[in-house]
Amino acid sequence: MQGTMDFQRRSLLKLIAAGVAVPSSLLTAGCAGDGSKKNGHIVVVGGGFGGSSAAKYLKRYNPDLAVTLIEPKKEYVTCPGSNWVIGGEAEMTTITHTYDAAKQRGIEVIHDRVASVNTDAKSIQLAGGESVVYDKLIVSPGIDFKWNEIEGASSDIEAKTPHAWKAGEQTLLLRDQLQAMPEDGTFIMVAPPNPFRCPPGPYERASMVAHYMSQHKPKAELLILDQKNKFSKQALFMKGWEENYGARIQWIAKMDGGEAVGIDADRKVVETTFGNFEGDVINYIPPQKAGQLAQDMGLTDESGFCPVDQQTFASKQIEDVYVIGDAAIASPMPKSGHSAASHGKIVAANIVLEMAGEPAIAAKNVNTCYSLIAPDYGISVAAVYNTVEGNIQEVEAAGGVSKMDATRRERELEANYTRGWYRSITDEVWG
Ligand SMILES: Cc1cc2nc3c(=O)[nH]c(=O)nc-3n(C[C@H](O)[C@H](O)[C@H](O)COP(=O)(O)OP(=O)(O)OC[C@H]3O[C@@H](n4cnc5c(N)ncnc54)[C@H](O)[C@@H]3O)c2cc1C
Repeated sequence: MQGTMDFQRRSLLKLIAAGVAVPSSLLTAGCAGDGSKKNGHIVVVGGGFGGSSAAKYLKRYNPDLAVTLIEPKKEYVTCPGSNWVIGGEAEMTTITHTYDAAKQRGIEVIHDRVASVNTDAKSIQLAGGESVVYDKLIVSPGIDFKWNEIEGASSDIEAKTPHAWKAGEQTLLLRDQLQAMPEDGTFIMVAPPNPFRCPPGPYERASMVAHYMSQHKPKAELLILDQKNKFSKQALFMKGWEENYGARIQWIAKMDGGEAVGIDADRKVVETTFGNFEGDVINYIPPQKAGQLAQDMGLTDESGFCPVDQQTFASKQIEDVYVIGDAAIASPMPKSGHSAASHGKIVAANIVLEMAGEPAIAAKNVNTCYSLIAPDYGISVAAVYNTVEGNIQEVEAAGGVSKMDATRRERELEANYTRGWYRSITDEVWG
């Protein structure tokens, strides 16, 4: 008997590793909540990088599972690539994806917002009035903002000083403000404190704004007021800025007076510990926390994010609920689309195994963050992670950042890889 069990587990793992469907003959051990059922109903909330990936891989690993994806938006606009739109290097259509492939795969997609979840009854209340029950629930709601952290900031100012940290309308608003600013105008970005979604994101955005200025507003300037003293790929960004844009981008660290303490959205003034800065466009990126639903469900801790078992992504707060993507505490992994997609595969594999009565696997996570400094100048950081005793750990020497002394041709190749990465990850998640 033990031999049969070992064989089944090995077969399951092989199939999961190969990313193919697991035959239902191997999934006979029942599921949480109902030992007699071989299948169950898994609900995934949030159709971004994490949730769409989880739904796809659940169905791929066990086509007999009933999988429901709940996402209010009919089309998802990715944050990756949104800086290119702001810089005039991509169109919104390029970064917009549908849920057609998920539907074709047999995933039930409900376009609605989850209003509340009764985790005792395992019942989800939708804003539209319907309710949905689950055996297991995967929550991937992304981030929300900690407004009111500085004087004058509230969600009311986002139309005047767009954050563009959730892609879509906000991306277009910021792009249009940049295009409308005076020839010799000043664009001020307030970069957020840690932890936040996409550590290199503000600095790629600064690069794309500077690129736009170099083409259309040669006398304009860009000032980054930072709530931190250092940032991701800093040396590479600074070298790239100097090589591509001279002194156009000025970065002021927190310790040098860059820390914003107040904002006047009407007068377009940012108050810092050093003094006041007046701009023509203000891109205020607020401090962040897990998406509001995670807060409302009681999945977060005092950090504002959700503690999870980093091997399975099971919530440490609520049984049969899993949290992935930006909302989860998956450090040392950064909050990125690539990380979220990686969590999606792992949570799917472990739920399928658990429902087959098999122990969890300690799968490897992967992350890559490419950034365009100019359309023909790319840089990257990559890492592989092991899970050891329920904790994610970076594998030494398995990743790294682009070389400091790369040739222009190598930077151009990395820019091509950046666009290639975008096509492959979005195909993997929404294709
Ligand atoms: C400017 C910028 C550039 C970036 N560039 C990169 C990059 O180059 N590479 C990279 O890997 N990452 C990048 N990122 C980060 C990436 O966008 C996020 O890390 C990723 O989107 C996280 O995925 P997620 O599933 O956690 O959240 P999201 O993708 O934000 O998805 C969350 C989804 O949940 C839905 N939702 C929220 N609440 C509810 C509710 N109550 N009911 C139903 N649905 C709900 C939302 O509508 C949303 O669609 C960038 C981010 C920014 C801001």
